[in-house]
Amino acid sequence: MRIQWPVMLMMVVAAGCARVSAAEEAKGDAAAKPAAFDPGQPTFPDPPRVATTAQELAAMKAAPDAQARRDAAVRAGDILVDNPPPLPEGYGSWVFYYACPDDGSTLQKITLTEHKCPTCGKVYTDDRTNAAYRCLMHADIENASVTLGWAYAWTGDERYAAGVRRILIKLADDYHTYPARLDRWGHTGMFAPLGGRRYVQSLDEAVGVIRLARGYDLTRGSKVWSDADRKHVEQDFFRATADSLTRFTQTSNHQTWFNGGMIAVGATLGDAKLIDRVMTMHDGVLDQIATNVGPDGLWNEGTVAYHNYALQALLATVDITRNLGMHLQDHPTVKRTITGPLSAAYPNGQYPAINDSDPADTGVFAWAFEWGWKTYHDPVLAQAVARGNADRLHAMLGMDAKVEWPPALKSEALTGVGLAILRRGSGAGAACTFLDYGPHGGGHGHYDKLNLMLYADGREWLLDPGRLTYSHKEYKSWVKQTAAHNTVTLGGETQKEDAGKLLWMTENKQWSACATRSTGAYPGATLTRYLALGDGILVDVFDVKAGDKTQIDLLAHAVADRVEPVGAGPAPVAKPITPGDHDGYQHLTEASARTFTRNSTWEFVAGQRRLVTWLLYEPGEQLINCMGIGYNTSQKTPTLIRRRNAKETRFVCVYDLSGDGSVVRGVKAREVNGNIRVEVAIPKGLRIVTFGPEGLVAQ
Ligand SMILES: [Zn+2]
Ligand SMILES: [Zn+2]
Repeated sequence: MRIQWPVMLMMVVAAGCARVSAAEEAKGDAAAKPAAFDPGQPTFPDPPRVATTAQELAAMKAAPDAQARRDAAVRAGDILVDNPPPLPEGYGSWVFYYACPDDGSTLQKITLTEHKCPTCGKVYTDDRTNAAYRCLMHADIENASVTLGWAYAWTGDERYAAGVRRILIKLADDYHTYPARLDRWGHTGMFAPLGGRRYVQSLDEAVGVIRLARGYDLTRGSKVWSDADRKHVEQDFFRATADSLTRFTQTSNHQTWFNGGMIAVGATLGDAKLIDRVMTMHDGVLDQIATNVGPDGLWNEGTVAYHNYALQALLATVDITRNLGMHLQDHPTVKRTITGPLSAAYPNGQYPAINDSDPADTGVFAWAFEWGWKTYHDPVLAQAVARGNADRLHAMLGMDAKVEWPPALKSEALTGVGLAILRRGSGAGAACTFLDYGPHGGGHGHYDKLNLMLYADGREWLLDPGRLTYSHKEYKSWVKQTAAHNTVTLGGETQKEDAGKLLWMTENKQWSACATRSTGAYPGATLTRYLALGDGILVDVFDVKAGDKTQIDLLAHAVADRVEPVGAGPAPVAKPITPGDHDGYQHLTEASARTFTRNSTWEFVAGQRRLVTWLLYEPGEQLINCMGIGYNTSQKTPTLIRRRNAKETRFVCVYDLSGDGSVVRGVKAREVNGNIRVEVAIPKGLRIVTFGPEGLVAQ
């Protein structure tokens, strides 16, 4: 019962806010609001109309690469005709349960009821593991139906259509035998809003039904299908799946797939009412485009991985509805979802792994850039498709087009996902910081307010470890925790969920700068972080007003071999220390602690390269260097912790971004008229930056 109160309170508060904003909206100027987008009404031409259209198919068969594509389709189809994929007996569970609980390794099948861990050798025979294996089997037959469908579309060879029929008849026969509603935690019925029938997640059913609809769409005209077969599959599988998908709605990326799945069924069955409902309902296609995509074009769960995932569902919906004569592709936000990911990368195209992301680069959106180029013919998207390849670019834009890759990007705030991005320099000298201040990111968010990620000297230095995988225990005990991030913890505890604020962002000749604040990460405490990125220098000032005296840690984790003090300094305290025993701290190992009596300089060493950081001394401060966990459980990331016990404090760090420590010669900081002035000595003089409440203050 304990957790009920805050939940109820949140609901009351949310309802109150909704009333206020509705009243304000009513008062507002109606003309200022964008007109509701009308995607048009569906028509239902003869199949194919889900996977492709008759015109598109004819054009593909007339294209110069037709023979090669046909050959590839036949090769893939023949494999499935010669070795039909086994059909699962029963529903599929969650894919991440097909893993060894001890070490997180993906299991290997011995038989349908015996699965072996490749790491520790343990063999699993339990129901949960077997059901999780059936998840893979269901996914295999979905993919097989698409492959077989295309082989039939290219050749008209009935053997391929028979392969699709075999799969769909099995699913239509079995669908009513699957659980009425079950989720991956074992909840049933109305207690399983994320659950499903053929899988324990409606998400997987939605993804799968799009594939199966494509396989059916491409083959349903074949004579292997009797009218009775078609009716059986359409009612007992496709309609039944749509009924299950309509049972609950979500606000997350799951719903984007539910919507796509229901649109695919609507298109298959020729059901205009279902399509209209999914388009216009609360959490439907248009509602999600309006509420889940920010002005930056990015999905509001704040991770590139989930943007990519939601985008696949959204563009599948656009494709299918376009085949029905609708024009959702003309919605301006749809185009922004494709160009948005270009802005959220480091200068080398790599993405910081924020929230539940994996390490990735803009290449993961190649498919979307290609789709966008074909749909919009925007030169920016042509550059993204060509990725620096002049021949490819010329084929799209003509011989006069110049390669502009990677794209020239400016400092900007992605206000939807809440990232302040500073950029400076170009080519090998490009530097970039990401400061994560914004919304938590729903279920895929991490407790990481004011987390700093840093790219310089051609590589990432300060990292966010992303999500590891959901089957590792460190997913909960490490990567979600504040201590895994380059930010502040109070009292050794993880932050609360919070949406911080961007106070300001500005640029002048010498600096790109911003300031961000969180007051909710630790109730009663105010965290303010100021950054100024100059040529070869990053000035980082972190102000903490904790309310009460407590342990205040500022952490920095780097992709490097080790972190150590530069030059002679105090020896570490003799006895080994543990930085903490919970909230992620238990994963910090090989720790040693030092107390300086003057400013200190530290370096993160990675092979021949170094990231040097200058720390301004504070009496009583303890400096702890240790090892954290990086992008996988065997990657160790050197961590530097500045630890103070105070009611309020200011951390000043200046990073030398040259890669060899050759830029910064000294650092001073002081307060002038309430502003924070930092002086950085460089070989040819001084660089001065003054942070004020509303921006940089002129010298
Ligand atoms: Zn194992
Ligand atoms: Zn994170």
